[in-house]
Amino acid sequence: MRDALGEVLPVEGEPDALHRLVRALTAGTADPADPLCAAHLHTPPLAVATAADLAASALNPSLDSWDQAPAASALEALVTRALAAEVHAVDALVTTGGTESNQLALLLAREAQRQAQGHGAIRLVCGENAHHSLPRAAWLLGLPEPVTIPTPAGTLDPAALDDALTQLQGPLLVAATAGTTDAGLIDPLPEIAELCEAHGARLHIDAAYGGGLLFSDRRRAQLDGLTRAHTITLDLHKLGWQPVAAGLLAVRDQADLAALRHQADYLNADDDTEAGLPDLLGRSARTTRRPDILKIAVTLKTLGRTGLGALVDQVCDLAQEFAALIETHPGFELYDRPTISTVLFRPAGASDDTVAAVRRQLLHDGRAVIGRAALDGCRWLKATLLNPHTRPGDLTALLKLVELAQHPHP
Ligand SMILES: *Cc1c(COP(=O)(O)O)cnc(C)c1O
Repeated sequence: MRDALGEVLPVEGEPDALHRLVRALTAGTADPADPLCAAHLHTPPLAVATAADLAASALNPSLDSWDQAPAASALEALVTRALAAEVHAVDALVTTGGTESNQLALLLAREAQRQAQGHGAIRLVCGENAHHSLPRAAWLLGLPEPVTIPTPAGTLDPAALDDALTQLQGPLLVAATAGTTDAGLIDPLPEIAELCEAHGARLHIDAAYGGGLLFSDRRRAQLDGLTRAHTITLDLHKLGWQPVAAGLLAVRDQADLAALRHQADYLNADDDTEAGLPDLLGRSARTTRRPDILKIAVTLKTLGRTGLGALVDQVCDLAQEFAALIETHPGFELYDRPTISTVLFRPAGASDDTVAAVRRQLLHDGRAVIGRAALDGCRWLKATLLNPHTRPGDLTALLKLVELAQHPHP
């Protein structure tokens, strides 16, 4: 990359810079469209979504004021409401991903609590399995130190949550996860919702990964209980095959959005708003904002529920096939049957150091990109299968590569 780049800000411009840098980036990319690139919740983007994103870049509407984005703001209003309705919410904010959605969820919870003039700041209660962005958001927003409940089985145990909610004083925000980043596990959402209602706690569900199951008729029931949350994180640059960024935060109570109300005369003057111009500043904590809704809208309409559901089913079925392959292979150990599309496995009898070394070896050789996770007191290799074009034969090849990497030639 250093050679391709040369001088970063040359005195005279170089007309072939686009060609050179795109080539260099392509040559050194971890390509999510490669079946053996399966470490993270990182998807090969759909061609139509990528094309829509390019159109968005060229047109460059900015969603901080209506006069910069009349059509894009109308599109965003329609699509976010429709997506919100999928989870029985009233509205959804467009975000840069799960991290920003989680931050906004905590912000709305903090402000709703202030509005209710309750005593004390709201405290986050989450499982150890929760995404790191949740405790980080609590820190960012100046909330009290979060309470973390151990999750030895990988999901939040309702009995442990009940104990915590019984013992803790003051206003509480429970965050549950539908699709953990490490293992793709789904917390017992109906039981958690029940407990939150019984204890008067607010509920946020981080469905950044699992939210995509909504598109599948066969798998939607795995998300039962999701609609009982006050706020829901969704992330279509995971099981939605969007180019980054395509996050959403669905909000159940319209009143919660009042917290984001904000006025800047040059963007949303009172008299403009009174005269009927849409007020966009209150739909984000950002100012200038890309129309990420365009690629989402194009995708939803091009593929339809059936098309998206088929992609979700494809990767989930593939994960089941891969798990079955590992189960019957004497050289490997399977963590568990996958809940979504993440498969954790390790060479039978391997030490944690070997597991880590195998992953690095594959990375160094450029043969495969797989992840790692620590669960049940040991280290696992992680294959996050999000590529609908991956075939079982690719996964057989992956196992072979792992075997070879375990016994590298001297
Ligand atoms: C990926 C993920 C996030 C973070 O989303 P970004 O889009 O990377 O900001 C949050 N929560 C869960 C459960 C995730 O899987």
